[in-house]
Amino acid sequence: MDAALGAPEKMRARHEELTPMMRQYCDLCAQYDGSLVLFQVGDFYETFCEAAEVSARLLEITLTKREDSTGSYPMAGIPIGSAESYIETLLDAGFRVAVADQVQDPEEASGVVDRAVTRIVTPGTLTEDELLRSEDNNYVAALAREGESADGEEYGLAFLDVSTGDFVATGSSSEETIRDEISRFAPAEAIIDPGLEGFDGFDADCMVTPYDPSAFELEGARELLDSYFGTPEKRLASDAEISACGALLSYAEYARGGQDGRLDYLNHLTRYEPREYMLLDRVALRSLELFEPRAVGGDGEHTLLGVLDETACALGRRKLTDWLRRPLLDPDRIEARLDAVSEWTTLVGAREEVYDLLSEVYDVERLIARVSRGRANARDLRALKDTLDTVPEIRAAMEGVESNTLRELRGELDELEEVRDLIDRAISESPPIEITEGDVIAPGYDAGLDELRETEREGKDWIDSLEKRERERTGIDSLKVGFNQVHGYYIEVTNPNLDRVPEDYTRRQTLKNSERFYTPELKRREDEIMAAEERADDLEYELFVEVRREVADESERVQAVAETLATLDVLVSLADVAAKYGYARPDIDEKPGIDIEGGRHPVVERTQESFVPNGAELSPEERLAVLTGPNMSGKSTYMRQVALIAILAQIGSFVPASRARIGIVDRVFTRVGASDDIAGGRSTFMVEMSELATILRGASERSLVLLDEVGRGTSTADGLAIARAITEYVHDEVGAMTLFATHHHELTALADELPSAFNLHFAATQTDDGVTFRHDVSRGAATASYGIEVARAAGVPEHVVERSRALVAEDALENATDGGRAVGDDGTGSAPAPSEPMSDPLADELRSLDVANMTPIEALTTLDRLKREVNED
Ligand code: ADP
Repeated sequence: MDAALGAPEKMRARHEELTPMMRQYCDLCAQYDGSLVLFQVGDFYETFCEAAEVSARLLEITLTKREDSTGSYPMAGIPIGSAESYIETLLDAGFRVAVADQVQDPEEASGVVDRAVTRIVTPGTLTEDELLRSEDNNYVAALAREGESADGEEYGLAFLDVSTGDFVATGSSSEETIRDEISRFAPAEAIIDPGLEGFDGFDADCMVTPYDPSAFELEGARELLDSYFGTPEKRLASDAEISACGALLSYAEYARGGQDGRLDYLNHLTRYEPREYMLLDRVALRSLELFEPRAVGGDGEHTLLGVLDETACALGRRKLTDWLRRPLLDPDRIEARLDAVSEWTTLVGAREEVYDLLSEVYDVERLIARVSRGRANARDLRALKDTLDTVPEIRAAMEGVESNTLRELRGELDELEEVRDLIDRAISESPPIEITEGDVIAPGYDAGLDELRETEREGKDWIDSLEKRERERTGIDSLKVGFNQVHGYYIEVTNPNLDRVPEDYTRRQTLKNSERFYTPELKRREDEIMAAEERADDLEYELFVEVRREVADESERVQAVAETLATLDVLVSLADVAAKYGYARPDIDEKPGIDIEGGRHPVVERTQESFVPNGAELSPEERLAVLTGPNMSGKSTYMRQVALIAILAQIGSFVPASRARIGIVDRVFTRVGASDDIAGGRSTFMVEMSELATILRGASERSLVLLDEVGRGTSTADGLAIARAITEYVHDEVGAMTLFATHHHELTALADELPSAFNLHFAATQTDDGVTFRHDVSRGAATASYGIEVARAAGVPEHVVERSRALVAEDALENATDGGRAVGDDGTGSAPAPSEPMSDPLADELRSLDVANMTPIEALTTLDRLKREVNED
């Protein structure tokens, strides 16, 4: 990649000899070092030298050569008309793109045409709809650190969506917290403080862009922020936050290239405290599939966002994403949302009406940002007006709402009459995309413009009737009046009639079979029409820009309306989902603990013909559940559903359960144990476990910890020891609510040892068709050897089954009393029962049979073999 960046070697070395145009290219490359420069030459964007080679390969375009007096340079170009799709490919390949446009009319240039970079396209600063791949937020982040002393170190973190103007900041002294907050927002790009170069908290698909280190300097950052939002200290909590926000603003301005850098539509900078929201670390976000399905190439529908998203417009979808990213901790705020959702579920008619109105709402956040950036056309303004027109209707539909939340939201809906009225009066009803070629301003808006258009129309009327008049005057029936771009208006007479042409006709053009003429009056009219048209087009453009600026001045109010519409959309969507899928309103309080009756997994239940509901009860007294059961019995679905129900409740949604009480959960941790892919063996595993301990250090009795198959992937003995150690640690030291799914049946003995632990299990039944799972959770441990149960069902003689049970019981007892001595795969950890003969190989095999870790097919084949052996005896 670097090969294509900066000024090409070959050119740099011979800078003075280059032609003026190539020198300009070379200078722009040097100036926008780090970006691939697209250099406008007429209707193309060209690249040269190394950049041309890279572009040709990536974009599959022809590599040609530019030859001039100074040499020959590789060159590759793309047509300007289809530049966006090429730029997208370059971004995907990890490039930043600086677009250098001709900023001077070539006809007016005395030497080489002036060119300037008008925008820098980077993954995090996109504003073009074509490039923004979805309705979701697209963030660029900045991370800064201030203070060097051990206790004085603070991180500041800022996120900005340039397309909508959404700008938020947070900070912490804990690097771990900062990492978690980064995961929440999943930025597409980041700039980092020079002092933090080695920081690795950004995802692999986040582009970390080197940016001018001085942008992070406190004084400059403070001044820049001040110019946008007033005294930064009033909004931000630390110097590090000021530095991050300032640097981010500076970068966003820089990305606008040579244009006026200010982003006037940035009206808000919101600071939040990480502690205000439920903490969902990166792993939890992934493993709970909030936004992305775990399966590679999985369906986006199969995520929490996917099943919850019945929003009507892009504004709502972004807001819903934000709510999911940051579930609340404050019961009052949650209840306020729940009240609104609850009310919407009862107002079916009004809800549908509001939904239909919201479906007509354009993405006004991006729209108003475009208006402010001076990038909006007349159609955008019309779309803005159409959206604002729904506001009074939505207010009317909400006339009878009673909950405080909905009443407040209704009250916040600013009808923005002046803006609507201005657009309606000024902008023609169905304007073209171009804003420089007329038809943009509505008649009646500007007297001067109307006069010009009138002159134009009168002139054209006169010309329209000219043919008839001239035919009468000359007696030439075939005489025609026409217009062409080069020669303008003309009167055409065929050759046979040329003798009847009057004196005042002047020849304009000779064709094969006819001659074209004009008259002094036609010429005069023509000049008048042309002049009026040109002046009208120019005036329209001026008027349009003025209207756009006036609308831009109201951007803050438009943003406030957009915000309210977004919130309404989410609340309506949540009510819709609640009604359609039988969700219940959760009880929220601050007493630690979770109590769910008839809970379902919101995503899995949609894909399953019949989903078996399960309850869950966790409290400080009974806070650690050891969950056993064979593979595919439903353990991980169950654990995730508990977490998802808590998350849903805390965003203010109803939950898939018949009843639920959620004592505010402050964090959700998930660790899916090192599975078979930990090829690194024990050491890697130990590292993972110690990381787990570090993370758990932050957990409280309000935290929910899901541990899935921790301890797998090592030898059974090690795995068991580690799993046991972790369980004890979580129970004794952390005190968090924990669901621990394990294959180690030995761990079920812990429930007796640890006062606040208990067992849960998923059972399975053997039928003629094979093993079936009932997917219902019950108290108590799974029969220690599931294999034995399956064996019995499969017809293994009762005395062998009994004997196996006795052996297993002994193991469990022994483990419980000797502090959990691990039982190896070979089962040598067991002592013989005193009253029985020691060797019963079949029972031994059955006991150590780990059916839980087999697929049903493997289990059945093994059992078939055992059955045959028994019968042969
Ligand atoms: P485990 O973690 O025990 O291996 P999973 O939770 O992955 O099992 O569940 C295996 C499959 O069983 C899931 O993909 C789902 O299709 C189905 N399943 C799980 N729980 C239920 C349930 N409560 N009702 C119906 N089907 C379920």
